[in-house]
Amino acid sequence: MQTRVCKQCFKVIKDNSINAVLGKKYSLCPQCYKKLEPKFIKFKSEGVDCLSIYEYNEDLKGLIYQFKGCFDYELKDIFLDRFKSVLKLRFYDYLAVPVPSWKDDDLVREFNHVEEAFKGLKLEIVKLIEKTEKVKQSDRHKNERSDIGRFLRIVKNNSLKGKKILLVDDIYTTGSTIKACISLLKSLNPKKIKVLVLCKVQHNEHIVKTNNNKLY
Ligand SMILES: [Zn+2]
Repeated sequence: MQTRVCKQCFKVIKDNSINAVLGKKYSLCPQCYKKLEPKFIKFKSEGVDCLSIYEYNEDLKGLIYQFKGCFDYELKDIFLDRFKSVLKLRFYDYLAVPVPSWKDDDLVREFNHVEEAFKGLKLEIVKLIEKTEKVKQSDRHKNERSDIGRFLRIVKNNSLKGKKILLVDDIYTTGSTIKACISLLKSLNPKKIKVLVLCKVQHNEHIVKTNNNKLY
């Protein structure tokens, strides 16, 4: 059997678990996965069903920063790989639309972190929305963030009639960007819109239901 190394701590993964028997090749060792505890937070945004795999915390912050800010491409699979099959089943007939980054940031990074993180779901990825200016929500004051829609636009004005859209992003903070993207997508009349994010900053008031370690 091929020796595999944990993409986070670089220790050899001793795969004597059921996963190894099943031929599942995960990217992290069991110890590092302990830091990535799934929460499957269900919530609504603009009336749309949203699902967040994790709660945003210091561990997630560090991993996303390493992936997105330090260009550690090798981490692309760690967020979803354990839930790929169940997520694939759930969203198999959806088109994935990534929440856009500023294109120059993607050029510097040489990959788009949102697209890469969700590629494992094997959905068709359609870059329908683009950012028209370099605006970083985390650098802006809370009161300014809601106007983010001014800096987003639909790239191709195709009708989405009959199509199911899965809007995907890394972090859901105030939700301003996701909401602006939802309203842009609604203008193209898709059959259905759902949102899937890697993690959500919890403010408590919008939680519909939280199931620990369970997707359904
Ligand atoms: Zn590890």
